[in-house]
Amino acid sequence: MKDLNITTNIQVYQYSELVEEDKILVDKAKAMTDKSYAPYSKFHVGAALLLSNGKIVGGSNQENAAFPSSLCAERTACYYAHSKYPDATFVKLAIAAKFEGKFTKNPVSPCGACRQSILEYETLAKHPVKIYLYGEDGVYVVSKVADLLPLCFDSFQE
Ligand SMILES: [Zn+2]
Repeated sequence: MKDLNITTNIQVYQYSELVEEDKILVDKAKAMTDKSYAPYSKFHVGAALLLSNGKIVGGSNQENAAFPSSLCAERTACYYAHSKYPDATFVKLAIAAKFEGKFTKNPVSPCGACRQSILEYETLAKHPVKIYLYGEDGVYVVSKVADLLPLCFDSFQE
């Protein structure tokens, strides 16, 4: 028997330390929280996805009275982006969340299903998707979604 230790490197920035391009992406994710439809959880999530063609596609969580029919902000953005721009690569994804009118102090990270979905596009394009998780007290930056999903299921693996 031996131990297998898996580590994830997360860079923590203050918003003011981000480069302009990243501030724009985070700002878009924050703005997308206002497009959220979250009458049940009141947890408004916004996502902004930068594509290789320079476009930024936004998404927000969309809830439904039949809860499993709801969709997260991240997948709303990813599915729309890949259906509208199927040849574009996902480059960066920013996520922000607001509850009772205030952005969360701590960064909010994608759920497992969203991590798996983003991974599919990362693998498909053979290009890392850099993730920005916004919180009022700091922005977590992860260099690729695979880092958020150790031992991920990947149908493309040999
Ligand atoms: Zn999700």
